[in-house]
Amino acid sequence: MEISQEKILAHLDKKIFRLISEAADEMGVACYLIGGYVRDFFLYRPSNDIDVVAVGQGIELAKAVGEKLGKRSRISVFKNFGTAQIKYKEYEIEFVGARKESYRLDSRKPIVEDGTLEDDQKRRDFTINAMAFCLNGERYGELLDPFHGLQDLEDLIIRTPLDPDITFSDDPLRMMRAVRFASQLGFDIYPDTFDAIRRNRDRIGILSMERVTDELNKIILSPKPSVGFILLERTGLLDIIFPELTALKGAETKDGIGHKDNFYHTLMVLDNITRQTDNLWLRWSALLHDIAKPATKRWDPRLGWTFHNHNYIGEKMVPKIFRRMKLPQNEKMKYVQKLVSLHMRPMQLVEEEVTDSAVRRLLFDAGDDIDDLMTLCEADITSKNPEKVRRFLNNFKIVRRKLQEIEEKDKVRNFQPPVDGNEIMEIFGLPQCREIGLLKSAIKEAILEGEIPNEREAAFQFMLKKAEEMSLTPLKRE
Ligand code: ATP
Repeated sequence: MEISQEKILAHLDKKIFRLISEAADEMGVACYLIGGYVRDFFLYRPSNDIDVVAVGQGIELAKAVGEKLGKRSRISVFKNFGTAQIKYKEYEIEFVGARKESYRLDSRKPIVEDGTLEDDQKRRDFTINAMAFCLNGERYGELLDPFHGLQDLEDLIIRTPLDPDITFSDDPLRMMRAVRFASQLGFDIYPDTFDAIRRNRDRIGILSMERVTDELNKIILSPKPSVGFILLERTGLLDIIFPELTALKGAETKDGIGHKDNFYHTLMVLDNITRQTDNLWLRWSALLHDIAKPATKRWDPRLGWTFHNHNYIGEKMVPKIFRRMKLPQNEKMKYVQKLVSLHMRPMQLVEEEVTDSAVRRLLFDAGDDIDDLMTLCEADITSKNPEKVRRFLNNFKIVRRKLQEIEEKDKVRNFQPPVDGNEIMEIFGLPQCREIGLLKSAIKEAILEGEIPNEREAAFQFMLKKAEEMSLTPLKRE
């Protein structure tokens, strides 16, 4: 890696690092920048999360630094963990004493003792995360890289500093982190590290689901999430944490008719959508859009392979998956359900006919999420035939244009009935009853079908006419 000592020194020539150095020297404590910050420096990824390890009391050092920074900084001390955090300008600086860790079989909670820098580096998850810059006087900016993390950065490799079986068995979260870093950075997992993940995969069971999901979300938010998911699948982790996804694997053929492998199709859709959006929940919708294909797959001698209603069954599967994954059970989940449920509609619309009423219905059902739905549908085009892809994309362009035209004209995207239920009850002197419901839905249907415009006067007259057909008499007329 071609980064000169001058560049390192220039980077470290910041007030915050100089003050930490001063404080450490005054206390006679060896102190280092370590972990992600050092890795990201070499990767040219700017970071404001700074980890500092002191050989001795991390908390004491943090307090001394806090005093030097004065009022502009805020310090929080976590005595139980032996750590302290300083917030200063855009930085979050975490101070900790160098530790040596040992683990019991049934827990991720280590037995912690004070240790040397090297002990501390050994307990780090990967070689690229175990590098340190010294911050003390003469040695300011010296790189301490006992496990050749810099070489691994250059070779794009994720590898544990120690025996990977021990590293992963001690803390199985590291298996998820290995995959996550590979996906975020576009790195490979070194073969013996990979094999150890496979061997230790069942240890993932001792983790809380929240921690697993945290890493999964980072994989989903990475530049090419398929990298992470394929690694999860090949290591056997995916089958444990997300069996609904591995169930999508495989392509069956009958009487010479095959269907696509929905696992790889799903990953392609996810990669496609990643190029269009950073919205985690839209990416989740891509991941789950075909989740019910295994449950709905049938062989029909006339039609071949069918997956009838996989969108609706998929919509129903989402809450269970979200609950297990400890994902939010709120409007975010409803949004994913909605997109899964509607993901076939724009394509059906193109295949049949782009009528105004079909477009209006789609706008009504999708509401404000219509653009996201279109983004999902465009990402769902994974055909290898470029001619087909062009045709589909072009059709969707037509749909998008039509959606815009109709919305400008009819405003059904956030449909508010032009005559509402309360008013109808008042006009006919009726309580909440079946007739009121019928009138309300007749008005909505007439607007969606394009029989009347989405306007008050037209809706009012329509309602009176409908009411007459139902032998209802108004108490008063407008
Ligand atoms: P990111 O900020 O993208 O999550 P990071 O590497 O900075 O990446 P942190 O979780 O902030 O991640 O961890 C900081 C450092 O602490 C890591 O670089 C690594 O050295 C160490 N570390 C974090 N988690 C573990 C773990 N489970 N096992 C061993 N070392 C870890």
